[in-house]
Amino acid sequence: MKNDKIYQHIKYCQSLKAEEILHEAFKFFNKNVEIAVSFGAEDVVLIDMVSKLKIDIGIFTIDTKRLNKETYDLIKEIKQKYNLKIEILSPNESSVRKMVDAKGVNLFYDSVENRKECCGVRKVAPLKKKLNSLSGWITGVRSDQNQNRSEFKKVELDENWENNLIKYNPLVNWSYEQVFNYISKHKVPYNKLHDEGYPSIGCEPCTRAIKKGEDFRSGRWFWEKNGNTECGLHIK
Ligand code: SF4
Repeated sequence: MKNDKIYQHIKYCQSLKAEEILHEAFKFFNKNVEIAVSFGAEDVVLIDMVSKLKIDIGIFTIDTKRLNKETYDLIKEIKQKYNLKIEILSPNESSVRKMVDAKGVNLFYDSVENRKECCGVRKVAPLKKKLNSLSGWITGVRSDQNQNRSEFKKVELDENWENNLIKYNPLVNWSYEQVFNYISKHKVPYNKLHDEGYPSIGCEPCTRAIKKGEDFRSGRWFWEKNGNTECGLHIK
């Protein structure tokens, strides 16, 4: 596709509302754009929106095999409520086995390098494989989640992957409060851990609840001092 057409599309989408962006993404790429979800509050909003828009768009998630029970329960509930097919991506079994044999199942507590290795095997590698088959992906990231995300745009070129695809962040300008207002208004099922002080939910051993006033993503890899609270999926 010609670059000028892509740039026009990106520019056009910047002024659109979240639902309109979803609609335009599907119109532009059809089956070549999909939604990546990890079943946080933002993700269930996107799922509810596409269901109301009746867009037949692909949805995928990565099961790192280390998720919380609450997250697995929510996946089941969402699939039943919306009658959706959600593609579950898994890490490569032999890569996981090799890593765990060499460094232990909880290697991430030992060093930042180990944590990045685990996220690389369990999350980044399956995502990379999936994105190689797409021209665009849609995420639930919001700009106030952490410093790294503050410059994200509603739609942008994502040059972090081999095939330079387009990344849509329809909720980028939404606040956490707006997300929960939507969930409450539309009675959307959400992860029960949000009620227990988890604004951001990742893998079970790497996420804890936060206290009032703490940074939004400070419960992620909470043992790391001044650590980066990204796992490599959303890089700027
Ligand atoms: S969040 Fe923790 S368990 Fe999950 S992939 Fe990253 S390091 Fe591994």
